[in-house]
Amino acid sequence: MTSEHRRLGSNGAPSHLFYQTRQRRPLVDRAEGIYIWAQDGRRFIDGSSGAMVVNIGHGNPVVLEAMRRQMEKATFAYRLHFENEASEALAAKTVEYTWPGMDKVFFVSGGSEAVESCLKMARQYAVATGQASRTKVISRFPAYHGSTLGALAVTGYTALSAPFTAMMQEMPKIPAPTAYLDRDDLTMEQRGLRYADMLEAEIQRQGPDSVLAFIMEPVGGASTGALVAPDSYYGRVREICDRHGVILIYDEVMSGAGRTGKFLAAEHWPARPDLIALSKGFGSGYVPLGAMVAPDRMVQPVLEAGGFQHGYTYAGNPLACAAGLAVLGEIERLDLVGNAARMGDLLKARLTGLMDRYPFIGDVRGKGLLLAAELVADRDSMQVLPKGLNAYDRVVELAYERGLIIYSRRTRGGTEGDHFLVCPPMIVTPVQIDEIMAILTDTLDALAAELNL
Ligand code: PLP
Repeated sequence: MTSEHRRLGSNGAPSHLFYQTRQRRPLVDRAEGIYIWAQDGRRFIDGSSGAMVVNIGHGNPVVLEAMRRQMEKATFAYRLHFENEASEALAAKTVEYTWPGMDKVFFVSGGSEAVESCLKMARQYAVATGQASRTKVISRFPAYHGSTLGALAVTGYTALSAPFTAMMQEMPKIPAPTAYLDRDDLTMEQRGLRYADMLEAEIQRQGPDSVLAFIMEPVGGASTGALVAPDSYYGRVREICDRHGVILIYDEVMSGAGRTGKFLAAEHWPARPDLIALSKGFGSGYVPLGAMVAPDRMVQPVLEAGGFQHGYTYAGNPLACAAGLAVLGEIERLDLVGNAARMGDLLKARLTGLMDRYPFIGDVRGKGLLLAAELVADRDSMQVLPKGLNAYDRVVELAYERGLIIYSRRTRGGTEGDHFLVCPPMIVTPVQIDEIMAILTDTLDALAAELNL
């Protein structure tokens, strides 16, 4: 055991907690708006909304009051014994954000559970409709869909799945559409089609009758650094799925609930998925909450064939749903989807402006307030920085020391590469964006000096 793993608790004694994080972090004291304070008095800007979770900001009084009212009535009532008003109301509100036919909601307590639910719904629908040969779910590499074994099987992130591959059915992967890296004569639209056609090829390789579903993040999250495919990708993927009877699942755990400047990232393109996984911003960190949204045309055959064989004890509990309902209410009342679009444009322009100052920023991408910048050795060739520099880790640490929380990963397409994400809560103001940019600039100056960039 290395000293890194000997964490000390707040009283200086060995801690009984363990996480996968290496650094000991300060104890949290309180949080309000886009800010979060440690017990030692330091104030941080939550420039990543936690893990792209706290979409409406911390300490929203309307949500806290709704939770308090629900807590005083009933915090838990099991769904086999009672219906509850909050879950009915939240389901009704959730489908308002979708499109005709998308009218059923299945609540869960997190993103992995939402993804598991989509996988199981797809499978049960196939069985119920005489397509039992369909078992394979194609996904992309890199991608993150969760840490439970089912979600991990479609997660394209080797380090996370490696210890478990012998225990699970690893699913086929196609490359994520990293068209921005390609140095060919094609237009972006042509590249989009080329990446989508990799799905067609994979379906053919696997055997069309064996393919159940394709799962993707419409705007990528941490694993790809807010990757957006060329517009042509989305329609072609839909068309390929339709042609082969493959169910299209959008994992909107990170991109949903307004983060990309639309309530669902799916709304940026005409193509629509069959199933949607939601979490993170959906409960905005006030409670563990997630959902699968599904069309009645898929749910009914499953129910008629004996029911959906799936569920979690805490799913749809009144407290979580009351909080979720208030979160959606605040998103509407404060026009936070519109603000995410407006502030996202502003922040993206400011991040893009950094490219003039720092030649090691190779790309700035994303939509709304799901934004990332990629760090490279050379912008023209998009050559990655040496792994040993740990640039993705250092940028986060240098920002943290300066009171700004950002998020980062070392994953890029088929190779490793460094990117960081700047995704503040959707309540962020222009003045606060100035504040974020000032710290970020100071951070990148320090990174350049430290790593000799
Ligand atoms: N899907 C996506 C796109 C995510 O970003 C995440 C978490 O980061 C998950 C699924 C898993 O969510 P959770 O950690 O709540 O299980």
